[in-house]
Amino acid sequence: MTETADVIVIGLGAMGAAALHQLARRGARVLGIDRFAPPHDSGSSHGETRITRQAIGEGEIYVPLVLRSHEIWRELEAETGEQLLLECGFVAIDSSGGQAVMHGKNGFAERTERAAARFRIPHEVLTPDELMHRFPGFTLRGDERVYYEPGGGLVYPERCIAAQLQRAAALGAELRLNETVQAIVPVAGGVRVTTSRGSYEGGHVVVAAGGWTPALIGPPLRRLQLLRQVLHWFVPDRPSRYQAGHFPTFIWAHGVAPEDSFYGFPIAPGATPGVKLATEQFSTGMGAPHDLDRTVTAAEVEAMHVAHADGRLIGLSRSALRSAACFYTNAPDGDFAIDHRPDSDRVLVVSACSGHGFKHSAGIGEHVARVLDGEDSLRPAFALDRPALEPFRMREPDKPVSS
Ligand SMILES: Cc1cc2nc3c(=O)[nH]c(=O)nc-3n(C[C@H](O)[C@H](O)[C@H](O)COP(=O)(O)OP(=O)(O)OC[C@H]3O[C@@H](n4cnc5c(N)ncnc54)[C@H](O)[C@@H]3O)c2cc1C
Repeated sequence: MTETADVIVIGLGAMGAAALHQLARRGARVLGIDRFAPPHDSGSSHGETRITRQAIGEGEIYVPLVLRSHEIWRELEAETGEQLLLECGFVAIDSSGGQAVMHGKNGFAERTERAAARFRIPHEVLTPDELMHRFPGFTLRGDERVYYEPGGGLVYPERCIAAQLQRAAALGAELRLNETVQAIVPVAGGVRVTTSRGSYEGGHVVVAAGGWTPALIGPPLRRLQLLRQVLHWFVPDRPSRYQAGHFPTFIWAHGVAPEDSFYGFPIAPGATPGVKLATEQFSTGMGAPHDLDRTVTAAEVEAMHVAHADGRLIGLSRSALRSAACFYTNAPDGDFAIDHRPDSDRVLVVSACSGHGFKHSAGIGEHVARVLDGEDSLRPAFALDRPALEPFRMREPDKPVSS
């Protein structure tokens, strides 16, 4: 039997749950399908916490998305009674002379300061001594550039997804969980979606399948890369030093290479009682989400400590209380891919990861709903045919020069 909906949302992680919620809020008949039962730990949205910050050093195009996301999280908190956003402050520390590349862009700290000034986001530029005085967990050398944003902090990804799915269902959205989409085919007046259990027709389809999107969509996303990432929780000898409220979320570039940066979180209410630390790696890819190696070795824990925490964060245990593996779906320029599939303007691809998507997800859900309602347009910076996503082309052979 074929069921119909105005919009079918494929994938109900960070982006899909937000899109489903926003479409349901606007009264659309929506059907959401996921191969698992989100929130789950098989994609890119687990691990208890994600950094959020309002002045976005990756580009000013992102600032309205995160500002709107913060408003939506607050609305959802009021509706559900769940805490989703914790404004415990965010710090960017840079001692790379602005040369470190963060999500495809250099000059991260400076660009963050510029965005804060332009969008009037409350912030302070601190000296290293001022930072250490305010947050005694940090040890700085003295030559670092420090940006502090009191309204930054963290979001709880699993809770955000659950809250949006719950609200969407309450507003009439249909959810099909543990059901895998196998094909998306444009038909007259709509799109047919075939799954492991049946088939559905929608006026439009939103594909928010995270790391599974390249396989579902094919060539336009050939240059997205899946990259394994690892998270560790370390126990401090004085937990009070690292409790949220006494310690912020942070990104610290202490050298120029990508492996010279790391980021971290305070001990957050309701989360694992440790300081969560992670790096980003952009060199070793994986073929598909099911290739994720979930075993985190003792050598990986040790490397995190030796290369980053030692001498920079005071009094953290050498062994990790817990570690977890996850993956990024990364575009070469670090930007998102939000655009129609080239063969159909009824199929909208929403692949917004590159390691920094969560903070924008609620705003992206609303952007998607507004695009489908004709109230907003797609952003060229996220287009599927932008140069960074174009597959490598064979050079045309040089033509013989005729005399
Ligand atoms: C380790 C790590 C740390 C991060 N840190 C931050 C951070 O601090 N701040 C920040 O803003 N962002 C951060 N990010 C990025 C952010 O978490 C991601 O951008 C975001 O979670 C991606 O969401 P998504 O909806 O695209 O993918 P997912 O949440 O993975 O959702 C995809 C969904 O699609 C479903 N699906 C896939 N294929 C099918 C199919 N065929 N049929 C049906 N369903 C399907 C999957 O089951 C899944 O539920 C981080 C990411 C990682 C991995």
